[in-house]
Amino acid sequence: MSIDVEDYFHVSVFDGIVPRSQWDTMESRVVRNTERLLDIFDEFEVHSTFFVLGWVGERHPDLVKTIASRGHEVASHGYAHRLVYDQTRAAFREDVRRAKAILEEASGRRVIGYRAPSYSITPRSLWALDVLIEEGHRYDASVFPVHHDRYGIPGSPRHAHRLERSAGSIVEAPASTVRLAGVNLPIAGGGYFRLLPYMWTRWGIDRLNTVEQRPAIFYLHPWEIDPDQPRIAAAALSRLRHYRNLDKTEGRLRRLMRDFKFSTVSTLLQTSTAADGAGLPMSAEPRAAGAVTRRVTWV
Ligand SMILES: [Zn+2]
Repeated sequence: MSIDVEDYFHVSVFDGIVPRSQWDTMESRVVRNTERLLDIFDEFEVHSTFFVLGWVGERHPDLVKTIASRGHEVASHGYAHRLVYDQTRAAFREDVRRAKAILEEASGRRVIGYRAPSYSITPRSLWALDVLIEEGHRYDASVFPVHHDRYGIPGSPRHAHRLERSAGSIVEAPASTVRLAGVNLPIAGGGYFRLLPYMWTRWGIDRLNTVEQRPAIFYLHPWEIDPDQPRIAAAALSRLRHYRNLDKTEGRLRRLMRDFKFSTVSTLLQTSTAADGAGLPMSAEPRAAGAVTRRVTWV
């Protein structure tokens, strides 16, 4: 289970409509929505990875602290939600370094995971993996092995795997797909979860678990369970992608957690069968007081 912790106005489809200079003037709903997710996860005894935007962590350090103290993993969504392939190598390094420092300070834990805004590590931004390694990240969750207008590496492996790069090695934990007629189709999260019928997600995860014997990596955003968020005047397609079925998502999430078991991304990666020998030794990680070590269960 993974959550990209950002506000409704941070998403890439609103880039250019809500400039970064205006972010601080917008009504913030991310704390309330994330706390709601934390309560839902408590209810189902689910531990999740929260990829927190550095910009959010800087303004709401108590939220980051709460995420960690309630037994979840804090990981990085970068600082300013800029697409990786739109940045220079130096700017990307500055962005991920800043986010990691903010999140480690707030959580009191080492941050080892990263997910790029809009899965923007693509064939033209693979250099970012070297920067992530150099900046101390142990896994990346930014490659979506599909065709899409903004992201995707269709030929990339569909399950967690270790990548050897010139800077060292890193585990890649891609968002989940099923392969049908030679095409990878997204099944586990975000707009696909909201826009398509719930049974699509359920069928896809069940197929991964039973036919392929693999876990799924599911993702969602706090704003996706907030039907009352302020509406932003954007193009029709963007509005469709962002606003449709917001009132149904929480109910679907609850159903999903009744149908499957979930854990954090780093827990999944420590399970060697999940990662093709890409196992992530992490025994040195300090655990927060009160954090519960749970049986390793994942979908
Ligand atoms: Zn994002």
